[in-house]
Amino acid sequence: NPHMFLQFNITLFGRKDRLIMVHDVTRLKHLEQMRKDFVANVSHELRTPLTVLSGYIETMQMGADALPPRWKRMLQQMYEQSHRMGNIIKDLLILSRLENTHNDKPKRVQISELLTAIHNDAVALSGGRHKIELQIDSDKDISGFYNELRSAFSNLVFNAVKYTPEGGKVVIRWYMSQDHGCFSVEDNGIGIAPHHIPRLTERFYRVDPSRNAETGGTGLGLAIVKHVLGHHQAELRITSATGKGSTFLCDFPARCLLNAPSAQ
Ligand code: ADP
Repeated sequence: NPHMFLQFNITLFGRKDRLIMVHDVTRLKHLEQMRKDFVANVSHELRTPLTVLSGYIETMQMGADALPPRWKRMLQQMYEQSHRMGNIIKDLLILSRLENTHNDKPKRVQISELLTAIHNDAVALSGGRHKIELQIDSDKDISGFYNELRSAFSNLVFNAVKYTPEGGKVVIRWYMSQDHGCFSVEDNGIGIAPHHIPRLTERFYRVDPSRNAETGGTGLGLAIVKHVLGHHQAELRITSATGKGSTFLCDFPARCLLNAPSAQ
């Protein structure tokens, strides 16, 4: 059975002793697995009905010109909300895949290639409304999982664009700090009040739920980031000031890094 061991060194009346507690966590593990399976199954099962609904909505939109304006607006709302539900389901599936332990081996993830792709996507998302800079100051790569890192880094970069008003600036950087590899995304957008910061990586936690519709987010992005970084033994650090902007830093320890393949 899986057990949790807790060891304490204690000093009693000048005598040094060690206290060991053993706790059987079989039941806890089992409940946790049931929760994971449940989320995975529900998200999976919701996909089919949603695909059918979205299909019909799109078909109806093709003939929308003949409809009264009020119905047309309702149809547009149905389209947007079903699209949002699709995004939530997609993110939930990504999260469940991350939670269910995988045995794949880490591979070289070429950072300059990955960041260039993400930078291009961000420029497209911004549509020219932001200045988006990419600075690659280290030629080290990461030993890890390409799709996971792509999804985590994209979430951070897209958030920076989403939560920065028009005319703002986003800087994406990859650099070394001592022997650690740092991926950072800095923006000069709306920022986050300090008391929200510790809770940001919780599922569905959002600072301002009334902005939901506006930004089209799911509240799952940073939960995904946290899981991906955990899988890479990396850490997320958030610094922010309301009205000034935010920096999201992913800190990769030396053991996750690979030297650039030597030029042949
Ligand atoms: P969402 O889908 O809502 O963006 P996330 O999990 O990615 O969900 O982020 C959680 C919340 O953190 C967001 O709703 C937003 O309030 C806040 N947030 C994330 N990134 C930034 C940022 N760069 N600037 C300001 N607020 C941010």
